[in-house]
Amino acid sequence: MTEKIILAVIVLASITTVYFHYYTNGFYRKLFRLEDVLSGELDYFQLSKSILQKVIHELAANSGLLYWHDDTKNEFKLKTLHDIPTDRISILTKLLKQPGGFFERLEQEPVPIVINLNQIISADDSKEFGQLKTFCKNFMLIPLINNKKLQGVLIIFSNRNFDQKQILLMKYFAPHMAVHLDNARLYQLTKETAVENARLYLNLSKLYQQATSDELTGLYNRNFMMQRLKEELKKAWRFKQPLAIIFADVDFFKKVNDEYGHQMGDRLLTEFGELLKSSVCEYDVACRFGGEEFVILLPHTTLENAEELAERLRRKTQQHYFCEPEKQLTITASFGVSATPIFPETLPSPEAVDQLLETLIARADEALYEAKENGRNLVKSKPTIL
Ligand code: GH3
Ligand code: MG
Ligand code: MG
Repeated sequence: MTEKIILAVIVLASITTVYFHYYTNGFYRKLFRLEDVLSGELDYFQLSKSILQKVIHELAANSGLLYWHDDTKNEFKLKTLHDIPTDRISILTKLLKQPGGFFERLEQEPVPIVINLNQIISADDSKEFGQLKTFCKNFMLIPLINNKKLQGVLIIFSNRNFDQKQILLMKYFAPHMAVHLDNARLYQLTKETAVENARLYLNLSKLYQQATSDELTGLYNRNFMMQRLKEELKKAWRFKQPLAIIFADVDFFKKVNDEYGHQMGDRLLTEFGELLKSSVCEYDVACRFGGEEFVILLPHTTLENAEELAERLRRKTQQHYFCEPEKQLTITASFGVSATPIFPETLPSPEAVDQLLETLIARADEALYEAKENGRNLVKSKPTIL
């Protein structure tokens, strides 16, 4: 008798072990299979879709949808769906969103809710539940919690009853889904913000470019030159470094317009601007000061060096053919050069810098006038005295 009892206990224990082994193995196999879908996908929409399809498949269910909380609008929004007719969505949305509805319930108690539509007899919702019944027999609502907040709800429809193992599986898997979906959402948000920032930056750069450059020649405009000259003068004074400017003016430019038309005149001005810009080094700043008058700002340059450069520019202009291939126009230009004086030991006051700026420009202008007066196609220079 005792032997029989011992045998029975052994048999029972073995059956329990085998069942437990099978149960847990099957459970974890399913869980691992589900986890698989979470790795490797960063796209928010694609991940939502893959998760929904995988869960439907693992639960041997029919269809489902995923709602996710939109923080900007403070409401749950349908993120993705699988095999649900549109008219059922509006019924379900009502059941979810109404006061005391499923969203509220899941926020208060975040555990999976299983609804067997055949057992629903509640008077309030019977109409909506009845309409759903024609579509499916059961559905499970799985709350997705991250950072202690209900971020989303996964809803799975099935014609079969959900068993305890499936509910437990969803309980285990839900936090993993929530973290990955939330990360994918943040990743997308970061990407969108980065794109938006880049767009704003581009717009800003475009605006800056428009505000600082001359439309015709693409060189810096007068406004930019005046600001830059002021900054460079301050630096030059502080570090006791020379600074020079060259004024360049096309000789008898009016004749070009009169003879070949305004458009050809424009082309010639653009090419003259290119010639000047390509002849100076990257620290020098070439700008169109207005009309057919250009200015080159030369940091760290003495009056003598600026005169040499102006002479090279004068010769280059004289030898250049403009408006090719249609025309082979030759022109000359006159140049006026000026440079900063020996700076006093005192640091520059804003008024002194303004005064110097005015004088520097006036001297270069006077030099240019002298070049014109003396027959044009000449370089003249005038030092600045403080
Ligand atoms: P000078 O040797 O004394 O400098 O004679 P100039 O003919 O070059 O100078 P003037 O000041 O008499 O005439 C300048 C001409 O430049 C008059 C104006 O119509 C023309 N001009 C100014 N801006 C533009 C422009 O953007 N495009 C064109 N095509 N012409 C311009
Ligand atoms: Mg001129
Ligand atoms: Mg002029």
